[in-house]
Amino acid sequence: MGRMRAALWWTVAVSALACSSGTGTHRPAYEATPGAVAAVAVDDTPAAVVPLVPVAAVAAVAAVTPVAPVAPEVWLRGSTHVHAKPSGDSSTPISDVIAWYRTHGYDFFVLTDHNQVSEVEDGNDTRGKPAVLDEGFIVLAGIELTSNTRDCIPRGHRNRCRIHVNMIGATARPGSRLEWAERRSQARVDRYNAALVAGRALGGVAQMNHPNWAWGTDAALLVELARRGMHLVEIANAQVPTWNAGNATHPSMEALWDTALARGAVLWGVASDDAHDYGARGRAKAGGGWVAVRARREPQAIVDALAAGRFYASSGVVLEHAEVAGGELVVAVAAGETGTYTIEFVENGKIVQTVRGAGARRAVPATGYVRAVVTRQDGKKAWVQPARR
Ligand SMILES: [Zn+2]
Ligand SMILES: [Zn+2]
Repeated sequence: MGRMRAALWWTVAVSALACSSGTGTHRPAYEATPGAVAAVAVDDTPAAVVPLVPVAAVAAVAAVTPVAPVAPEVWLRGSTHVHAKPSGDSSTPISDVIAWYRTHGYDFFVLTDHNQVSEVEDGNDTRGKPAVLDEGFIVLAGIELTSNTRDCIPRGHRNRCRIHVNMIGATARPGSRLEWAERRSQARVDRYNAALVAGRALGGVAQMNHPNWAWGTDAALLVELARRGMHLVEIANAQVPTWNAGNATHPSMEALWDTALARGAVLWGVASDDAHDYGARGRAKAGGGWVAVRARREPQAIVDALAAGRFYASSGVVLEHAEVAGGELVVAVAAGETGTYTIEFVENGKIVQTVRGAGARRAVPATGYVRAVVTRQDGKKAWVQPARR
């Protein structure tokens, strides 16, 4: 295998002090997910510990203990579903994938090759720990646990059964392709459960990928998987728009998500590009869906923010506000963005308010949840996570 070691690594840039964009004053008010993410063994110690200068009020007090600076929370754009050559169905080397995201305004991505935790080779031995590269760009270790079989129950289109689950921020380094699929039981819930069990051994946050692709997913499955530890669900995988949209006999992904949310599921909605192709050629192109997390520019902070729902999903709309403040869900398009916008608030599965404009707010209901969808005139959207009291 030569240098094709299969260990994953993260790429962290310089020091935490490198973070710059954003205001740093945002206080996300989403409920934290109970029991949140499995601990991810990230060494996020700042590269340089710089003592804070005591402020005037305490300057006269002797022996102020130096404290490492805390990076501000900012909006960080990333993709949680990215393929490279080790996947087998992409021809792009990992280094070119990194280059693509770095030159297209992203702050991080999760490398999710099929059934293996891949390793970025940067010339350093970074097996099993973060590597410091440059300029704060972060690559999180991950995997797409992938099983393509037939005969699932409930049945899928042409009997297809595609059980695909990402682990985001995997800490284990299995070093080879994984065999994990459940074949004894035909029940989808059992097959997804096998992915969750394998995923727990790898570490990280679980994301259910393109659930509507080839049908077969219903709201009951989403509710049960959320109960078993699925934190994220793709509501807008850019490679399967017609499946996301549903049809006369199958609900859309958003409708399935709403039904699950109305039944109390804690499940955050993701947009992803599921990219395999990064040039002019190819069908599964990058950039069609992403998330923006509110977090410090550190691997663990990003993983934690994803698990707790401190992010919005987007197919192109950029937001400045997407949080609860003063008991209201506050939504606003980022300053400097052009276009005209419509904001819809969805409360317990129903659109309850439509606002023409780039900003709006609505009280979080006494029971259930409210979420928002921002649509630009060209059809691009941002999905704000559900908020509850
Ligand atoms: Zn997939
Ligand atoms: Zn994929």
